[in-house]
Amino acid sequence: MSGEQISLFGFDQPSEQPLDQIDQRVTKSTPKATNPSILAKVYANLDELKAEAIACQKCGLANTRINVVVERGDRRALIMIIGEAPGESEDQTGLPFVGRSGQLLDKILASAQFDPAQDVYICNINKCRPPANRVPTDEEVTACKPYLLEQIRLVDPKIILLTGATAVKAITGDKRGITKIRGQWLQWEGRWVMPIFHPAYLLRMSSREEGSPKWQMWQDIKAVKEKYLEIKSELKSEIMDADF
Ligand code: URA
Repeated sequence: MSGEQISLFGFDQPSEQPLDQIDQRVTKSTPKATNPSILAKVYANLDELKAEAIACQKCGLANTRINVVVERGDRRALIMIIGEAPGESEDQTGLPFVGRSGQLLDKILASAQFDPAQDVYICNINKCRPPANRVPTDEEVTACKPYLLEQIRLVDPKIILLTGATAVKAITGDKRGITKIRGQWLQWEGRWVMPIFHPAYLLRMSSREEGSPKWQMWQDIKAVKEKYLEIKSELKSEIMDADF
């Protein structure tokens, strides 16, 4: 491996590649409804979705939550990161991935020169914290999933990263362990999807040796960066073609 070490996450950075100046905001096509049969409700925009989610009583998690946790990041980002459910810090703040695993996620993103505030949109399968951070039940996932499907339609990301087995199962139905499927690109609803380790799992791993989970995460984020740059360059070509 080559490149400078980033001190926080502890991995090499990918070689500097000039990011083109293309504005992803104007290149995104009008989002279309993906699969109307599984959308409980079509929202006009994310503000409308958020207002409804904040008042949601569709499952028992409404009784124990402090905040409904909907989103952070850029609503027009090319990359969406989907976690499992809010933890304690997220429940307290109303923002996803702001606790220890969120801080690690931000470091992972920064190690590939992604700005968490501008380059990604972050959300969860479930918008309310399950008591004691247990895994959300199938019923809770089913109750909450229409919000997520609408978030995907409205943000219209080209790349989706699924952190951990619960997120993978909820979106793709794949029940295999994350170690078997992480790092593999899938196509889902016309989008590039990659299962990755959940940062909470990486927090428990100290090794950065080749082949370790942290090392594998570094390979995955580099692959994501490559795909992101490829997609940006395709979008730029489309705009130039349209200008002719
Ligand atoms: N873990 C998740 O999956 N999501 C969060 O927002 C925080 C921790």
